[in-house]
Amino acid sequence: MNMPDIRKIMSENKIFAKKNYGQNFLTDFRVIEKIIAAAQLSSQDSVLEIGAGLGSLTYSLAEHAYNTVAFEIDTRLSEMLKENFSADKNVEIISQDFLTADLNKYENYKIIANLPYYITAPAIFKILEEGKGIKNAVLMVQKEVAQRILSRPNTPDYGAMTVSVSYYGNTELVANVPPNCFVPRPNVDSSVIKITPKKRTLNSEEEKLFFTIVKASFSKRRKTLVNALSSFSELNISKIRATELINQAGLDLNIRGETLSTKDFENLAKLLK
Ligand code: SAM
Repeated sequence: MNMPDIRKIMSENKIFAKKNYGQNFLTDFRVIEKIIAAAQLSSQDSVLEIGAGLGSLTYSLAEHAYNTVAFEIDTRLSEMLKENFSADKNVEIISQDFLTADLNKYENYKIIANLPYYITAPAIFKILEEGKGIKNAVLMVQKEVAQRILSRPNTPDYGAMTVSVSYYGNTELVANVPPNCFVPRPNVDSSVIKITPKKRTLNSEEEKLFFTIVKASFSKRRKTLVNALSSFSELNISKIRATELINQAGLDLNIRGETLSTKDFENLAKLLK
């Protein structure tokens, strides 16, 4: 496995990790191996990496994939990587904020990232909403966020994030990663998750309703679904309509949003259209 010596690169080049860019560089090759294995990378795959840093993952991606496009916002790091990969035609380093990237340019690729945690939610939703033909996304996130994404109905972690991500794809835990696998050590535990996109079942009008219903249901967790939906101004439905909707969906009138599955929410969006 191809792995740069991060501590040495940092000390030789006087690089101090920037907290505001979420720079916690991976130094444990066993974690990198797990990420590569989870993505099921083959020499035919194209990969898009978010936040290449000092290349902890990028070197392994270059070794396993057909080609790699890696975004890095910190120009000092991206310039170093550009130089190091200048002879490798299969690696393209892009000095850009990933959140402003035009994902229409890429198709049929895998996404790999040790995400800067401050952009976790926008980066995940950008991938899922804008990405075309993504085969899978293997992402290092804060453990607490992984628990929310992977949780089940009727548990405290279950919420809008769980339902929204699971609408787009199947989710699984790859590994839990302790702080000592990074330099500098983050203050939180981390987890690698894998998202495998699935076919979207709603049209755009229904999708809009779906996300509004999800938002309404979890913004008032303690309320019954009837009350949560009818009191959410964005939805603009009466209590009578909300009752009728829940009856049509075959759900109990006393039910609360946190007990509904993603399929139940999809069904409600279709019925409300
Ligand atoms: N991939 C490297 C690794 O595993 O060691 C670095 C991971 S570090 C957690 C996150 C990286 O994302 C940092 O290098 C940081 O500069 C970069 N980054 C932060 N915000 C970014 C953004 N909006 N777009 C692209 N890269 C970003």
